Amino acid sequence: MKNDKSDKDIEVFRQQAHQLVDWMADYFRDIEKYPVKSKVKPGEVYDLLPPSPPENSEDFRTIMDDFNRIIMPGITHWQHPSFHAYFNANNSFPSILGEMLTATLGAQCMIWDTSPAAAELEELVMNWLKQMMELPSEWHGVIQDTASTSTLVALLTARERISGFRVNKEGFAGQKRMTWYCSEEAHSSIEKAVKIAGFGSENLRKIAVDESFAMIPEKLEERILKDMEGGFEPVGVIAAAGTTSTLAVDPLRPIGEICRKYNLWYHIDAAYAGNTALLPEKRRLLDGLELADSYVFNPHKWMFTNFDLSAYFVRDKEALIRTFEILPEYLKTRSAGQTNNYRDWGIQLGRRFRALKLWFVIRTYGVSGIRETFRKHIALAEDFKNFLEKDGRFEIMAPVRFNLVCFRYRPANTSDEQKINELNKAILEAINDTGKAYITHTKLNGKYTLRFVAGQTRVEKKHIDQFIELLNAVIKQPELKK
Ligand code: PLP
Repeated sequence: MKNDKSDKDIEVFRQQAHQLVDWMADYFRDIEKYPVKSKVKPGEVYDLLPPSPPENSEDFRTIMDDFNRIIMPGITHWQHPSFHAYFNANNSFPSILGEMLTATLGAQCMIWDTSPAAAELEELVMNWLKQMMELPSEWHGVIQDTASTSTLVALLTARERISGFRVNKEGFAGQKRMTWYCSEEAHSSIEKAVKIAGFGSENLRKIAVDESFAMIPEKLEERILKDMEGGFEPVGVIAAAGTTSTLAVDPLRPIGEICRKYNLWYHIDAAYAGNTALLPEKRRLLDGLELADSYVFNPHKWMFTNFDLSAYFVRDKEALIRTFEILPEYLKTRSAGQTNNYRDWGIQLGRRFRALKLWFVIRTYGVSGIRETFRKHIALAEDFKNFLEKDGRFEIMAPVRFNLVCFRYRPANTSDEQKINELNKAILEAINDTGKAYITHTKLNGKYTLRFVAGQTRVEKKHIDQFIELLNAVIKQPELKK
């Protein structure tokens, strides 16, 4: 099949697609047989592939053989139920089916006219999310690729609002030095956005956190006042609703009130924990989010929706559109003014039809199904925490609020911090080298900390039990006793 044209080509495509669907179903059936973290060495995959592209057509079978033989060993299996690393990037069967349709339609959804249903479904699913999660009804939602992009969009919009839309036109010349604020625990995408948006990373103030790793609002206000006295122009604050290291939630309401007091843009990065706004019992942890000017969370992390799909909400839609809108002649349409042209709601012009997979997920699970699965994950994390506490050899390193447990092994026979750090690093590597589970780490107050997330779409109690068994076995290894 070369031309995608004739009836014969379509029949060949049908057959190959059926074979692929079989491959996909087998993959999920057998997923626990794969090592969670790929075991390949740097350069190994590259060296197995031909350095030059084929001049002539190769058949599907040959390509699939290479895929199975060369590519698959270099894959880390994020959909493996024992993937406890980072934060999950979950998919689910309905999401995959939605993605298959998106790939098949291949629609480029930059403006309403280029696929009206894509624009209108996007508006609908974003409104559904607002209802499901009790987000302010006056917010306007748009799908971005990632939380990093969403935060950049927020910073650019804030920059334009504070400068009266002058920076877009004239650049920063003549502007005061603008400053931003986040906590010491904020995600690296914040600093990246501050750099890209032209503020300069030196103008990002990292505010101290308390013992639960949440921003201290009094320190924030002190720093804002100091900067104002020093001739800087504070632009906005980025609060974390769930930091990457520990899922600490900054005090959203007091920070929001400070933003209101000094007329600052308030952006909330709820990339992971924002998903739990769906749970009434967790929603209160996000109290104060309604004060935000912009807010992002990622269904592509926890809400069973294939990477990528980031839900971005903004209060002032006009400021957002005015920041990004550009209307060349070739994009003028009859429907202008009556419809949402999402290319004006962010950075990229061309856009994938992302709303479809989220629509499939929400309809197939139902809100109650998503809620139930989140609750199951949170309960599994609680089980793991209970094991650590009862066992006595471990230390819980941060409050467990959602489905992340930060812990370390702390043997009774040593208080040498460096040795404990090395020991925990060795435990992490030994666990990951088995291929049976995958965890990652962070450092909290200089202490090497293991992070365990119970959040994979398909994780069950037996996977937590298997992990506990693995942890016990690894700790017993003689190399770790030295
Ligand atoms: N913000 C937080 C708190 C995160 O934990 C992450 C990633 O884990 C991000 C932002 C970046 O997310 P994305 O990959 O969607 O840009």
